[in-house]
Amino acid sequence: MRTPIIAGNWKLNKTVDEALGLAKALKEQLNDLKNVEIIVAPPFTALAPLAEALKDSPILLAGQNCYPAEGAYTGEISPTLLRDVGCRAVIIGHSERRHLFAETDEFINQKIKAALAAGLRVIFCIGETLTERNENRTFEVLESQTRNGLSGLDSASMNRLTVAYEPVWAIGTGQTASNEQAQEAHHFIRELLGNLFDSSVAENTRILYGGSVKPENIDGLICQADIDGALVGGASLKAGDFIRIARFK
Ligand code: PGA
Repeated sequence: MRTPIIAGNWKLNKTVDEALGLAKALKEQLNDLKNVEIIVAPPFTALAPLAEALKDSPILLAGQNCYPAEGAYTGEISPTLLRDVGCRAVIIGHSERRHLFAETDEFINQKIKAALAAGLRVIFCIGETLTERNENRTFEVLESQTRNGLSGLDSASMNRLTVAYEPVWAIGTGQTASNEQAQEAHHFIRELLGNLFDSSVAENTRILYGGSVKPENIDGLICQADIDGALVGGASLKAGDFIRIARFK
């Protein structure tokens, strides 16, 4: 059985005070939650205060990005420093990084390796654009992003990696993939993991859905056979919405 994960990607939102307020509400209202892993990825400036605020809570902290080296890289953050500040995981390959900051599969692959080497868990994001979907290239795109992003990893390191399928056309648009569209993509990704690694990687890897997840659609998505949780953007900024998503039925 794969333990579901509900992860909140706060993106470039929340001052330290606002982040502390949201974390406090989540801590108070999710502390009885069993058999679900909760992860929050606040902006870098809120990581240290949140690590302190969430010290005796099962909620895990994640970074939203990292750089695969240390030293003279002005403005970047390394996996080691994320670990040092209390992160247990990092999001890598988010579509906003791929599209707004021109991150390639090869660069993402380097980041994944650096993050795993530093002892972090990785939430590895993939997903097709609307044009790619309309051109019937969804599976081809998911395959090349997965194959290249995970190149050189072994089966053992895959137990610290979670895949997030986030169709670009569904992110921040209010237009969620249908349960069937999401399940079809997740099933494809799981089979692909079986081909790239082995059947136990395919069976054990958590695959999250992301893209306009809300209290209204989480229950239908998460009951799909290959959907093991959600990576939530906009709805993770409101305590009530995120708590309802984490308490999916
Ligand atoms: P959204 O973002 O929930 O606001 O669509 C999801 C994501 O970008 O991870």
